[in-house]
Amino acid sequence: MDLDIELRLLPPEKRRSLKPGLEFGFGRLFTDHMFYMEYDKGLEWHGACIKPYEAICLDPAAVVFHYSQTIFEGLKAYYGVDGRIRLFRPDQNMARLNHSARRMCMPEVDEAFVLKAIKKLVSIEKDWIPRERGSALYIRPLMMGTEAFLGVKPSDSYIFFIILSPVGAYYREGFNPIKIFVTDKYVRAVPGGVGDVKTGGNYAASLMASEEAKKLGYTQVLWLDALEHRYVEEVGTMNIFFYFEDELVTPKLTGSILPGITRDSVLRMTKDWGLPVKERRISIDEVIEGIKSGRLKECFGTGTAAVISPVGWLAYKGEEYIINNGQTGPLAKRLFDELTGIQYGDRPDPYGWIQFVEP
Ligand code: PMP
Repeated sequence: MDLDIELRLLPPEKRRSLKPGLEFGFGRLFTDHMFYMEYDKGLEWHGACIKPYEAICLDPAAVVFHYSQTIFEGLKAYYGVDGRIRLFRPDQNMARLNHSARRMCMPEVDEAFVLKAIKKLVSIEKDWIPRERGSALYIRPLMMGTEAFLGVKPSDSYIFFIILSPVGAYYREGFNPIKIFVTDKYVRAVPGGVGDVKTGGNYAASLMASEEAKKLGYTQVLWLDALEHRYVEEVGTMNIFFYFEDELVTPKLTGSILPGITRDSVLRMTKDWGLPVKERRISIDEVIEGIKSGRLKECFGTGTAAVISPVGWLAYKGEEYIINNGQTGPLAKRLFDELTGIQYGDRPDPYGWIQFVEP
């Protein structure tokens, strides 16, 4: 794709900025500009531009409204300790975006071009990157089918955009282990389905289980496999790891869980640290047994939002189990420190995971 990015920027006096002390939480505040391009059958991707953030006008018959032909990604730009702006493994997000596109019968994008667009947009919006450790500028690329047609088939036209949102530190008072509800009533994804795709429908389908879990005082849901309701899959928007006495394990990628980039990074680092690491099936019974016997030392989720999220409590079949006395374990802490150290630039980047955004 040999595309240029047209710049249609707001004059400086019309730009807003990140006010010091502003509480922005997660995903409610958006920057001044967005990247945007369109696809039409026969024309390929065209009209790439960075323009003021604005509403999108679509035909009510647009495919996305009716049949959810849509995919997205999520990554962050970090303001480093040296003042340089870093992206963490953005090439992996681009590869996953195209994996999602193929599965949803959507056109692929030129990964290098979209990465260039992300860097350009982030550099234009660099003043929106919060400086507080733990905070970042969240980057949300999204594609959707826009053809006005009620027949069920892949859309002939698409839009792709990237929006940016400053996000606050996930952990305000240090690491707080979360409480997880193991559901054996609902499932997230079936074999052969779209569980490994970042598509909106997966998240819509998860709402009821997470609302019910929240009412009971749990932060997120731990999903079990759809066939036997027995094997652990993933948690809300995170992959899950169990640190048993003799091994660190995480569910294998069998197509029904999202291949997390944080998950992959944790696997790579812990193998290099000499831990016995395995990707395999893990039954919920093994986890509960491990808690009862003391064989399970730690449990934590991994994902772009929280990086590492220790799990202190698991509720399953009416019982609540406590893991590591509800405390953050040393492995979760070490992984958190190492990963955030790489992301904010105060630790070396031995794997070449960081890409810089030039101002
Ligand atoms: N599982 C799901 C369902 C997710 O939405 C996410 C967040 N992208 C993850 C796992 C973690 O993936 P990553 O480490 O790439 O953020």
